[in-house]
Amino acid sequence: MSDLEQFRVEVADWLEANCPASMRVKPTLKDNVYGGRKWVWENADAKLWLERMADKGWTVPDWPVEYGGGGLDAKQTKILFKEMTRLGCRKPLIGHGIMMLGPALLEHGSEQQKQEHLPKIARGEIRWCQGYSEPGAGSDLASLRCKAEDKGDHFLVNGQKSWTTDADKADWMFCLVRTDFEAKKQAGISFVLFEMATAGVSTRPVPLITGVSHFCDTFLDNVVVPKENLVGELNKGWTIAKALLVHERKHMADLESSMPTPRYSVVEYAKHYLPLSDDGKVRDGVMRQRIVSHLMTKQVVELTERRAFEEGMAGYFDMRVVNIFKYVGTEDQKDKADLIVDILGLTATRWDEESNEADLYRATAEWMSSKAYTIAGGSSEVQLNVVAKHSLGLPDAQ
Ligand SMILES: Cc1cc2nc3c(=O)[nH]c(=O)nc-3n(C[C@H](O)[C@H](O)[C@H](O)COP(=O)(O)OP(=O)(O)OC[C@H]3O[C@@H](n4cnc5c(N)ncnc54)[C@H](O)[C@@H]3O)c2cc1C
Repeated sequence: MSDLEQFRVEVADWLEANCPASMRVKPTLKDNVYGGRKWVWENADAKLWLERMADKGWTVPDWPVEYGGGGLDAKQTKILFKEMTRLGCRKPLIGHGIMMLGPALLEHGSEQQKQEHLPKIARGEIRWCQGYSEPGAGSDLASLRCKAEDKGDHFLVNGQKSWTTDADKADWMFCLVRTDFEAKKQAGISFVLFEMATAGVSTRPVPLITGVSHFCDTFLDNVVVPKENLVGELNKGWTIAKALLVHERKHMADLESSMPTPRYSVVEYAKHYLPLSDDGKVRDGVMRQRIVSHLMTKQVVELTERRAFEEGMAGYFDMRVVNIFKYVGTEDQKDKADLIVDILGLTATRWDEESNEADLYRATAEWMSSKAYTIAGGSSEVQLNVVAKHSLGLPDAQ
């Protein structure tokens, strides 16, 4: 037996023995665990599952052991995730800490910052939010104006952040601030960390059409940020911001894996809800074509992802594909949600955003949310601009 096969067997045995039965049941959106000081545990098994996985370092399996990770290489990490999927084990923890800030800190943080923040992220003790966008600085993020003045041992931060996901539930924010107003816009930005409980930080939830608010406007009024919370060099935050966006976009491209597994595949929905001909085919030819086209895209994306993974293993992963995956993955989610609503017809008018019964309650909520995925983390148009410029070498659109 190869080392990897041996590893797969050990992983499967461990998961079988340690994943509580209720953590192997299909999750709803409410079952996602974000952790943090304000987290309210409604399910003791979810807490136990997080603790067991965190003790193994498997909430962040590919991080170094000294920062709370599992120290696994890329192939072992893939095996772990595959086994979790095969056995139906839920992800024990998700959120901005493990998906975005952690990888950026591993690359750009000081030793002290890594030791301070990474283990708490890995154990789900601290929940993070992302202070990037501002009114007037979304796609054109480098135009941000949130100001950090140098006051000797600290920065004094003033400004507003918008669309801050779960800012009212987070413990800390990673935030882009302008530390030089004279320099070229990308050259005057710094990347800082601060506690949401700091005096002068306030949040206001933004009501959404779905009825549930996941976002806030965040106001920063004379917020004192100690100098040791600057990540990387002063005025060099844009490099870190971009590196973090790559991790965010990777996650967005694979968003489907953190969504509740729908009860049916698209084909099964079609077979349940659409008129069929005698030979079992969907009678409506246009609908048949849309379904086939969706399945073909899905297949092509999966094969391309596999190829990119293998290229990564061989040592020549091209970061630029992340923009393509973000674009295709989220647009595909949108098309799929569109398709399911059309298949369900009137049934899709029922409503419960938190349910996982897409055919009964969630389809329309998911259809609305899917439009947001093509904006969050950089809109589809912006991804296409990046692909055009950096992958295809076309002239700048502006
Ligand atoms: C679900 C969700 C979660 C989010 N969470 C966070 C968060 O936690 N933290 C955070 O900081 N931000 C967050 N955002 C904000 C997100 O990053 C911005 O919405 C996004 O970058 C777009 O910026 P904008 O909303 O200002 O739109 P704009 O930049 O004003 O864009 C408006 C439209 O113009 C198009 N456009 C803009 N520039 C170009 C161009 N050069 N070429 C072609 N088309 C262009 C865009 O594609 C879009 O269709 C979130 C957004 C969503 C939807």
